Amino acid sequence: MDSSMKKLQQPNHIEKETAEIGLGGYENLSVSCPYCDQYLIFNRISELKTVMSITGKDLLCYHCNKVFWATGDEVTAAKYKWFLQDLYFLKKEKKYGLYILALCQACEMFMHQAIVNKMVDCNYRDKASNFTEDYNVIYSEFCNQTIKDISNSEIRNDGKYEKVTFKLLRELFLHIFKDARNNKLPSLSKLKEDKRGEYFNVLEKTEINETRNKVVHKYAYRPSVSDVEKYDELISCLHWLSVYLNVQDSELFINKRL
Ligand SMILES: [Zn+2]
Repeated sequence: MDSSMKKLQQPNHIEKETAEIGLGGYENLSVSCPYCDQYLIFNRISELKTVMSITGKDLLCYHCNKVFWATGDEVTAAKYKWFLQDLYFLKKEKKYGLYILALCQACEMFMHQAIVNKMVDCNYRDKASNFTEDYNVIYSEFCNQTIKDISNSEIRNDGKYEKVTFKLLRELFLHIFKDARNNKLPSLSKLKEDKRGEYFNVLEKTEINETRNKVVHKYAYRPSVSDVEKYDELISCLHWLSVYLNVQDSELFINKRL
């Protein structure tokens, strides 16, 4: 599309140049200024003041002080996907320690979101007429429950859900999705292959959390590229399971189903 067409579509921004957002990560987005061609990084919290995707926004170039229209932020509403997206760039920059942290966090957030979808969003959908206000209440109630209450299982731990660490979160996840692991969900038809056996095992066996602990604590372990590449299968597993279990940002999930 040439630039005159873009201007026609945006009558309010007719004097401005448009720039496509290059990389949209969890914390920052980067874009090249269409006037001076400088590579710019904007922090979502400090500068953009929103955690929503930037479908279109005026940005001020901090090199040449000109305002341009930025567009094309990647829409990845579910938080774990942002972290997965950052991995490629962390590897390219050889920041393997940060890579391990981001991947482990993606894994935890994925399991958490899947549990919330199943335990809160699905149940709530049937009761809700106007979810926006009460959603926060039901969510915080969920997070304050004990693990036993949530899972109604033999998992012996009475700690509050919000304090759940990687191992227990995984135990809870595997318990809650036992049925999806053993029996085929209809969503399987969206996937090329049936990888249930393989990928539930990958998640069950991964020690990404132990590697993460080594990196983050006092010995500050420095992973090598082969340490990082060991987890390629875990990444594929998260992508596959996210489709199979239909793991989505909660509001998006509820909106689609109401
Ligand atoms: Zn500029």
